[in-house]
Amino acid sequence: MRPDELIGNSVEVLKNNYYKRMLQTKQLFFKCLQENKTLEEFNREFAKIWEGLEYRFMNTRKKELETLIDELNKVSLDDKTKEFLELISQSRFDEAFKKYENTIKKYYQNRLSTIDNVEDIDSYLSNFVSKYDDYQASIPYFTKSGLLHSYRDIADYSSMLFNTNLLRIAINRTLYDAEYLDMDLIYIPAHNLSCQKCIEWQGKIFSKSGKDKRYPRLEEAYSNGLGHPNCKHVPVLYWDESQIQKEKFNSNYWKDQYEIDQKKKAIQREISKKNTDLKIYKELNNKTKIEITKKQIKRLRLRLSEL
Ligand SMILES: [Zn+2]
Repeated sequence: MRPDELIGNSVEVLKNNYYKRMLQTKQLFFKCLQENKTLEEFNREFAKIWEGLEYRFMNTRKKELETLIDELNKVSLDDKTKEFLELISQSRFDEAFKKYENTIKKYYQNRLSTIDNVEDIDSYLSNFVSKYDDYQASIPYFTKSGLLHSYRDIADYSSMLFNTNLLRIAINRTLYDAEYLDMDLIYIPAHNLSCQKCIEWQGKIFSKSGKDKRYPRLEEAYSNGLGHPNCKHVPVLYWDESQIQKEKFNSNYWKDQYEIDQKKKAIQREISKKNTDLKIYKELNNKTKIEITKKQIKRLRLRLSEL
């Protein structure tokens, strides 16, 4: 397996794991309200859904990734890697989760307090099924310069942090190997489905120090897109020409493939969201919403098949 695949697969697993639990939580939210469960009861069930979520499996991935990179770099080192780039701490993951948890629980309490005066609870709750999604996107995401970029949900946000850490682990290892062997040239292997930001940098050689004028300075690539959030480009030591890939995955065909892949993932995610909504509307006996949602799912499936 290539390092970018290892990162990509691990991040996808974690993201889906979060997303599945997010949808379960949404279903629980409406079921508990429908049955007029107290906040404490909701909290108990909430905890059951989220217990044992393993982003700590990063440690296993870390070792695998480092071994893989050492192989590519032709280095065998058992030492602990130097942290050239600082890893994101566990507390950032925990803080983000707390934010999501608090928002949902507060929203629950808020809805619960209004329900007493409502005659038709089912139809009242139906109005909040899509509104709930706004509350899910509760984690502010800032750009490098500190501006608020958007609000993310916990699946998006945590998997992005996780991706950043895996990438930093990989970069650190290659920088460490380079220092150990006193090598200056770095190669950025090209991979398929690269985003636009990285496409111009992949499949090229760089000089780490900037002293070798035949090649651009590595820092130039990193300050111009490479290594952005969710980037999976792993630098390796440059040994010889045999490493240079003929296929750099930078044609228009591959640019289109990237767009299609992104769309597919978004639609698949939307379909699982709608399927959960459908279950909720069924619980709430809302025939109109059931029909609408079924049609939406059908349309999404059609769009997916056309891609
Ligand atoms: Zn990249």
